[in-house]
Amino acid sequence: MTDVLHAPPEVGGGRLSLVPLGGLGEIGRNLMAIECNDDIVVVDGGLMFPEQEMLGIDLVIPDISWLLERAQRVRGIVLTHGHEDHIGGLPYILPRLPVPVYGTSLTLGFLRSKLKEHGLLDSTESHVVRAGDTVELGGIAVEWIHTTHSIPDACALAIRTALGTIVHSGDFKLDHTPINGEPPDLARLARIGDEGVLLLLSDSTNAESEGTTPSERQVGEGLSPIFATSAGRILMATFASNISRLQQAFDCAEEHNRRSLVVGRSMLNNVATAQELGFLKVAPGSLLWPRQLDGLSADRVLIVCTGAQGEPLSALTRIAAGEHPIVQLQSGDTVIISANPIPGNEELVHRTINRLYRQQVKVLNGSRHKVHASGHASREELKLLIALTRPRYFVPVHGEYRHLAIHAELARAVGLPPERVLAVDNGSILSVDADGIRPTGTRVPAGFVYVDGLAIEEAGDVVLRDRVHLAQDGVIVVVVAVERSTGAVVAGPDLISRGFVEDSAHEQLFEAAREEALKAVSRLAPDAEWTVWQAAIHDRLAQLLYQRTRRRPMILPVITEV
Ligand SMILES: [Zn+2]
Ligand SMILES: [Zn+2]
Repeated sequence: MTDVLHAPPEVGGGRLSLVPLGGLGEIGRNLMAIECNDDIVVVDGGLMFPEQEMLGIDLVIPDISWLLERAQRVRGIVLTHGHEDHIGGLPYILPRLPVPVYGTSLTLGFLRSKLKEHGLLDSTESHVVRAGDTVELGGIAVEWIHTTHSIPDACALAIRTALGTIVHSGDFKLDHTPINGEPPDLARLARIGDEGVLLLLSDSTNAESEGTTPSERQVGEGLSPIFATSAGRILMATFASNISRLQQAFDCAEEHNRRSLVVGRSMLNNVATAQELGFLKVAPGSLLWPRQLDGLSADRVLIVCTGAQGEPLSALTRIAAGEHPIVQLQSGDTVIISANPIPGNEELVHRTINRLYRQQVKVLNGSRHKVHASGHASREELKLLIALTRPRYFVPVHGEYRHLAIHAELARAVGLPPERVLAVDNGSILSVDADGIRPTGTRVPAGFVYVDGLAIEEAGDVVLRDRVHLAQDGVIVVVVAVERSTGAVVAGPDLISRGFVEDSAHEQLFEAAREEALKAVSRLAPDAEWTVWQAAIHDRLAQLLYQRTRRRPMILPVITEV
């Protein structure tokens, strides 16, 4: 009997390292750098939505200092698919690391609409690839392989290096009856397996789920009876990027003689992009404008919106709170939440659901009501991918540490030698060669980078965000008196806080904050603008206070000239 798992491919010469900067040990902000000899290729550049204790923070992105120090050697960013946790960080990363970006049509469609909003479209070099294409990036060649996920046009990658081929699964499930496009290209994965795979990096999100993940098509089967039996309006919340889900909702609406209103800017953008690129098919005239809503009877209306995760500023959350400018709930409404809470978001989602029930509407949510199917592979699918690719080494990616550890166990259980399987966190560099795969012991910065105030969903949100911010974490006013001609601090910094922490109990913290504020301004050129002073104080204090208290008070630096 030949045991392929024990006859792994030859390993070429050279130096190969993996540098995970996001998505390992957490859900979100996926970014993996692959360094082979002189070349670095980056897989994905995602964001993470803030955890509850980070209120007031809009987004969290990976720390890319390791890449910036080697910017000359970064040949490009290759994208697996168009979800926020894979492309959402790029508008903040690309200005600092302006390298070419490669991805499939829908993935780049979503990215380009983000870049446009950030004024980065013209300065970014981006190339559309198709499944089957290979792009040479220095000494590294990347091939896109068609897979299936909860967004169309998702791909796995075969990354060919001097030492051997790395297969990166991207996010995937093996959906043999997808809503858009072809089933996953298992044949190609198997052929790459035949050629020999040095290392498999595989999606761990559902490593705890037994069996196989239901097809997207099953969601349609869950939605159809709801559309058939609801007499009132139907509201459906899902991810703005879940084009397959939107397609099924629009199809059901059409079948049951409803017209659809899309609410939320991100969802409107995505619908427009996906329609333009042919990934979403909507009958002419079936989409509504908000002002057409009143003229239609309740049983003719479908409203699709964002907010399936209970995100504080999203459409559904505001609708549930009775604070949405366009949509107010009415009796007889049915609300479908076509998602399961991402770990960490449960409380927010439950808060929204409680509010919905209070408003006397019917609520159907998650896989419990068959209105959601996960986009991630369960254990049997994960095993199949390992069997098809037969890698020499295995590193689980995309998941909290528990998911990674369980996925590693699974890989060992299907026959990979224990020492060739490794679960690691963000920031831990792995070196790979013929002798094995191991952490180099070097840790690179891979902490949270916060984006505060740059990604605003809709007009009016700034005020709302400030309100939430103040209510949650309070405010600190930092007063510094500066002599304009010399830039010398002549008084302060004085700190005044309200609703943050009790001043007397945190004397040390305030002392440290004062010192930090002084340090922040001492490095500035004397003729720097006051806004630069303010930003310097704000950033240093935000960092310090968050580190010490896990809270993010609003910080208002006030500079007075003397
Ligand atoms: Zn995804
Ligand atoms: Zn993902």
